[in-house]
Amino acid sequence: MSREKGIWTPPSLGTLTSADFDMSPREREFITRSRQYLRNLQAHCDPFSLDFYFSLVAQEGLQALERGNYGIGAIYIYNHNGREIIIGSHNRAYSGGDSSAHAEHELLNAVDSLAGGHSTYVNRIKLRRKTMDKHDRRILVAGMEPCVSCVEKLLNHGAVTDLWIGRAEPDSGSVLDGRDRGLHPRKRKALKEQIKISLLANSIDPELSKMLGDMFFNFRSKVYLRLQQRKEARMENFEANVARFSREAKSGGFRRHGYGKK
Ligand SMILES: [Zn+2]
Repeated sequence: MSREKGIWTPPSLGTLTSADFDMSPREREFITRSRQYLRNLQAHCDPFSLDFYFSLVAQEGLQALERGNYGIGAIYIYNHNGREIIIGSHNRAYSGGDSSAHAEHELLNAVDSLAGGHSTYVNRIKLRRKTMDKHDRRILVAGMEPCVSCVEKLLNHGAVTDLWIGRAEPDSGSVLDGRDRGLHPRKRKALKEQIKISLLANSIDPELSKMLGDMFFNFRSKVYLRLQQRKEARMENFEANVARFSREAKSGGFRRHGYGKK
């Protein structure tokens, strides 16, 4: 795991080529091989094991990668009265055109939205089943150590009792190896008191653990470049769209509230 040491340096936009936007044969091959492995793992493992839960996380991560995003997935396990519900989500920072669409962020939005009775995220419901487990708990299972913004979101959501992490992320993770020092002291205290955090890289099948790292670490430079390029194009669209909507609004609406008018 030497690649997890030190700080990752983002590549410069100047190195961008058209190949950075297309899925390379290397990515395709990785995704195909990983899916085969996961199908095989799911067919043979205990369906309530860590391997099973993290295999769902990995499947989500592959979906993210396939759509040009960071290869990160997450699931929410809701256990209550012998029942289990699993919600799944993945990073959509590129395909969703939303820079905050981290896997955990999306996941908590889905849970909050379903709790509020909305059907927007109904396709994120992955599994409903009975379980022998009588625990009442809500587990967020993240393929990668969550970033500061996702931890904030987690604390605002307020219902998660356990955070299971597949792999440490030294560059932007915010909970392991003392990296929680970057959180506001009150948030750090709340995190410690409310949520039991476990790094499970060494408790799951070694190949699964490696895959969770590879799908992020091996492709992140390319995804980073895509997002940088997208950012410039989006801001050009932003200006053009604001101009268009302003013209359409004509005399009504927001133009009346501009600076210089009393
Ligand atoms: Zn995040």
